[in-house]
Amino acid sequence: MSGYPLLRSPLPAAGSAANVVSAISQRSALGQPTLSFEFFPPKDEAGADSLWKNYDKLLEVSPDFVSVTYGAGGSNRETSLAVVDRMAKDVLTIGHLTCVGSSFDGSREIIKHFEQAGVRAILALRGDSPQNDPDALSKGQLKTALELVELVRAESPLEVGVAAFPEVHPESPHLQHDAEVLNLKQQAGASYAMTQLFFTVEAYQDLVAAASLAGANLPIIPGVMPISNAAKVLRMAEMSGAAVPKQLLARLQNASEDEARIIGMDYSIELSTKLLEAGAPGLHIFSLNFSKAALEVARGCGLA
Ligand SMILES: Cc1cc2nc3c(=O)[nH]c(=O)nc-3n(C[C@H](O)[C@H](O)[C@H](O)COP(=O)(O)OP(=O)(O)OC[C@H]3O[C@@H](n4cnc5c(N)ncnc54)[C@H](O)[C@@H]3O)c2cc1C
Repeated sequence: MSGYPLLRSPLPAAGSAANVVSAISQRSALGQPTLSFEFFPPKDEAGADSLWKNYDKLLEVSPDFVSVTYGAGGSNRETSLAVVDRMAKDVLTIGHLTCVGSSFDGSREIIKHFEQAGVRAILALRGDSPQNDPDALSKGQLKTALELVELVRAESPLEVGVAAFPEVHPESPHLQHDAEVLNLKQQAGASYAMTQLFFTVEAYQDLVAAASLAGANLPIIPGVMPISNAAKVLRMAEMSGAAVPKQLLARLQNASEDEARIIGMDYSIELSTKLLEAGAPGLHIFSLNFSKAALEVARGCGLA
C-alpha cells in the first residue's frame, strides 16, 4: 500500500491486517467498519487496462482488503491467479476458489499457489454449472463449498470464508436451511462470510438473526452492488434470485437511463448507510472492475 494516500485510515497501514477477521477487529476497535472491493479477472487487454486503472483509484481510499472472483470450471484460472498475484503485493487479498469441475489435487495446487503469492484468505465457493454444461458440478470431485472449507482447513493455514445469502440461495428451501449450512461451514473452520447482492436491510438482518439462531456467529460482510446501470443490476438480481423491492423496480423501470442511475445510486448509498447503522462489520462493494460507482457508495456512506 505504500505510495497510496491513506484517506480514511488511522490504522498503521490499511490493507495490511493479517487476515479478514483481524481487519474487522482492528476497525471495530476504532469504531469503524471495513471497506473492501471485489474484482473479476479481465477477459481481454482492454478489460485489463480498465481493471488496473480502476483498481489504482480504489486503492487510494485505503480498502482493508480486496477479493478476486474465480470462474466455476476454472475457465479463467490463469487470469484470476495473475490478478490475485498482483493485488496481493499491495493489499490484503482474498482469492475466490470454486468447486465446479475441480479435483482435490487441482484445488490443493491453487491453495498452495495462493500461499506462495502472499494471499491471506480464501473465499470457498461451490460455483454454479455453466448453462452449456449443466452436469459440470457432478463431473468434478468437490461438490459443495463445505468440502472446500474442509480441504483448505486440512491443507493450509490460510483463513477461509464462505458465501451467505440474505435473499436465500436459489436451491435452498428456506433461510433457516441456509443458516444451518452456514453454521456447518463455521464448524468446519470458516471464519467470515460475504453475502450475495440483496436490496433491503431487513434481508441482511434476517440472515444475521437466522445465522445466530443456528449457532453461526461469524462476521457476515454484506456485499453491495452499486446500482449505476439499472438494467445490468436487475439482470444480476434475477440470476441470483434476489427480489428487487416493487417500488424501487417501478421507479427504475419508469425512468430514463440517467434518472435511473441517480435513483439507483441514491438507493445503494441509503442501503449501505442503513447496513452500517444496523451493525454490519463492513461493506464489500462489487466494483465490477469500475471505480466511479464504488467510490460514490463508499463516500456516500462515509467510508471514503
Ligand atoms: C460473495 C460471493 C462471491 C462469489 N464469488 C463467486 C466466484 O468467484 N465464482 C463463482 O463461480 N461463483 C461465485 N459466487 C456464486 C456462488 O458460487 C453461487 O451462489 C453458488 O450457487 C453457491 O455457492 P455456495 O458457495 O454457497 O455453495 P454451497 O455452500 O455448496 O451451497 C449450494 C446449495 O447447496 C446447499 N448445501 C450446501 N451444503 C449443504 C449441506 N451440507 N447440507 C444441505 N445442503 C447444503 C446450500 O443450502 C445451497 O442451497 C459467489 C457468491 C457470493 C455470495
